[in-house]
Amino acid sequence: MPQKKCSFCGRGEKDVRLLITGLSGFICEDCAQQAYNIVQQSGVGAAEEAQAPSFELKEVPKPKQIKEYLDEYIIGQDEAKRYLSVSVYNHYKRLQQPKDDNGVEIEKSNIIMVGSTGTGKTLLARTIAKLLDVPFTIVDATVFTEAGYVGEDVESILSRLLQVADYNVAAAERGIVFIDEIDKIARKSDNPSITRDVSGEGVQQGLLKLLEGTTVNVPPKGGRKHPDQDYIHVDTRNILFICGGAFDGIERKIAQRLNTHVVGYNSVQNVAKIDKADLMKYVLPQDLKSFGLIPEIIGRLPVLTYLNPLDRAALRKILVEPKNSIVRQYMKLFEMDGIKLSFTEEALDYIVDKAVEYKLGARGLRSIVESVMMDAMFNIPSQKIDSFEVTLEYAMKELDKAHIQKMENA
Ligand code: ADP
Repeated sequence: MPQKKCSFCGRGEKDVRLLITGLSGFICEDCAQQAYNIVQQSGVGAAEEAQAPSFELKEVPKPKQIKEYLDEYIIGQDEAKRYLSVSVYNHYKRLQQPKDDNGVEIEKSNIIMVGSTGTGKTLLARTIAKLLDVPFTIVDATVFTEAGYVGEDVESILSRLLQVADYNVAAAERGIVFIDEIDKIARKSDNPSITRDVSGEGVQQGLLKLLEGTTVNVPPKGGRKHPDQDYIHVDTRNILFICGGAFDGIERKIAQRLNTHVVGYNSVQNVAKIDKADLMKYVLPQDLKSFGLIPEIIGRLPVLTYLNPLDRAALRKILVEPKNSIVRQYMKLFEMDGIKLSFTEEALDYIVDKAVEYKLGARGLRSIVESVMMDAMFNIPSQKIDSFEVTLEYAMKELDKAHIQKMENA
């Protein structure tokens, strides 16, 4: 009987470790591996693998539990937390609903959050996704243009979701997408027919079908569609979309609406109760429409909530209280070198004052603490000390120094 050999490389049975027998030939372990690599690189593997694994949803916590979890990481924003907890809970209840449930079909509860930048919108969405352990991606609405124009198609949202889900389509189809800066795709003018608005209304139209639920052909490697590519089919019916935007100037629209409604005795009484300093909390879907979102989009984002601007007290809490607060993170860094780091109350107050002064909100806290700690982080690991306290004087000195350096470099 002739010696068995690999039909690909021709090596005999004795020269290989493994020879797999086929119908009319053989393949050795090296060639099998190589063939696998080729399939992977071609992208075909990804598409087919994607169909294979299923995805089991973890038991979904009750709204109260979700809110308690959010409280550990996010300061304040109670209203937004409650809305988010309820809609996420309902969303996953909807996923568990049997197909034929006496004709009652629970509709999707996509969410829109309105609030100035740095108030915690992304943090909320990210924290919820972590709790639920579902694929989560953040996309910026400003990069999208209408299909066919320079920029990204809205379908690329799904490519990213697939990537984070390791191409497990079933998992991606139950994921959460956070669309940031949704206000930036507002219609530019009230009259859409004058010029084509490829990055405004056109994108809103594109988003519509994703939000509602449709099957989208997604190119496996992202990017533009190409006629020869194998597509992955992703059904967006069960993907939860959370949108966020600063909607700068929406207070004016809210004020206008509140004013025009104040007619008659009853409304005069109501007006007295309106908190003029914080009009955002009166936001209604029609204000989003006045801002330039098309009614169809608003209709598909039925849960509307707002985030408060962060005041001094909130910033002070953000610095120390959340589970992974900035101060805790620095303490951890020093602890890894065996050093106990502490901040005096005055030093913390000073950092908050500076963040308020620079009008940088919660984002500013981090860069201020970074400037204050830079020298210490450079020097202390090579010193033989076991504790270090950041005092008011130290914080002031370091921040001044950092500013002088920046000015010198400028
Ligand atoms: P937004 O999406 O509203 O622009 P982010 O969620 O990205 O703002 O917030 C920026 C950073 O500020 C976060 O990473 C977080 O550290 C901090 N932050 C903002 N708001 C809060 C909050 N309410 N509680 C705790 N940290 C916050």
